[in-house]
Amino acid sequence: MEQTKITLDENEMPKHWYNVLSDLSSPIDPPLDPRTWEPISPAALEPIFPKALIRQEMSDERYIDIPEEILDIYRLWRPSPLYRAHRLEKLLKTPAKIYYKYEGVSPAGSHKTNTSIAQAYYNMKEGTERITTETGAGQWGSALSLACNYFDLECKVYMVRSSFYQKPYRKSMMTVWGGNVVPSPSPDTEFGRKILEEQPDTPGSLGIAISEAVEDAVAHDNTKYSLGSVLNHVMLHQTVIGAECKKQLEKVETYPDIVIGCCGGGSNLAGISLEFIKDRIKGKNNARVIAVEPSACPTLTKGEYRYDFGDSAEMTPLLKMYTLGHKHVPPAIHAGGLRYHGDSPIISKLCAEGLIEAVSYDQYPVFDAAVQFARTEAIIPAPESAHAIRCAIDEALKCNQTGEEKTILFNLSGHGHFDMSSYDMYFNKELV
Ligand SMILES: *Cc1c(COP(=O)(O)O)cnc(C)c1O
Repeated sequence: MEQTKITLDENEMPKHWYNVLSDLSSPIDPPLDPRTWEPISPAALEPIFPKALIRQEMSDERYIDIPEEILDIYRLWRPSPLYRAHRLEKLLKTPAKIYYKYEGVSPAGSHKTNTSIAQAYYNMKEGTERITTETGAGQWGSALSLACNYFDLECKVYMVRSSFYQKPYRKSMMTVWGGNVVPSPSPDTEFGRKILEEQPDTPGSLGIAISEAVEDAVAHDNTKYSLGSVLNHVMLHQTVIGAECKKQLEKVETYPDIVIGCCGGGSNLAGISLEFIKDRIKGKNNARVIAVEPSACPTLTKGEYRYDFGDSAEMTPLLKMYTLGHKHVPPAIHAGGLRYHGDSPIISKLCAEGLIEAVSYDQYPVFDAAVQFARTEAIIPAPESAHAIRCAIDEALKCNQTGEEKTILFNLSGHGHFDMSSYDMYFNKELV
């Protein structure tokens, strides 16, 4: 049997992030000021982000060095393993070769630490004392709590109310790492108080939680805000995934025909795919890239490509992206990390230009795939990641029809150890 687990040594870890903005066919549409709808100046973002991250957000340099302090923390779990899914292939009787990059080895259980460590670091360097953020299912809040702990920053997490009560152990995890978590809407902000008064029973949403976190950051001089997906600098930090992956595939003399990632805000998809999209832009290779989203929140497959706000209260800059509308509150599906009304401007542009395709799936076929995967490859996937597995399985099954031996690569963005109640609901046929 060919190799199952393809690893890299610490010294083979990428030393820089790849900035796809440098290679786009035309400049990305700039973020707009929410008051004037004019392109926002970097200075206008300074109340909420450190200057280094604003520079990265707008940079056109192709490679950006990863500071040694960040590499040093990455080394706790990176390079992450790449696996060949021999047992899944056998179950499917497919001629396709399936590989997956496993980001669930990070201490917080997902790829989100790749950016949380970087964001906390640049904040610390510029004297920030406290960071606010929102979290839906809790993965981002956990990743940022861990990162703030390492750089001695306070971390305040506004957690979407429905998840706060459904996922108590995510909250415990954040508390262990020193994060301060409140259910959103909360009485701690003006916007939260307004929503609580108007809709006392609301389950909350990411859009509401973002508004609270931004309001808090603007109101306190020592505080900045941090976002776990969507923005260009977040896509940038995630490119370590694809850079490692490419080296790992080179070790087994392979290049993918298809690259797949689930897509909420777009960061794990960007992480695994931008390295391969770079080759495609340069005419070197031609991997197809597929974004997979839930049919309950079909941003790329059914949304409009236009300017929209990132939050409910219309406080954030407007971003040009695929969107379902910033007032949209998606149904409470179990892949909480995929419940965002918008999408990364980078991923949106690449979709609009045909460099990324998008598909969507219902919850049941996604959990069918998750269970098939867990029973062959052993890892219990996050419901978000299971969307990518569903698509990888379907692409492999197409090869059964055609006899093609395609190489399929997908990102297993996280484990599902905090999502076991959603597996129970799947087995009890209680999913919506
Ligand atoms: C947050 C999260 C996602 C969705 O976010 P993206 O920015 O689209 O990657 C997917 N998988 C896991 C495990 C997550 O934690």
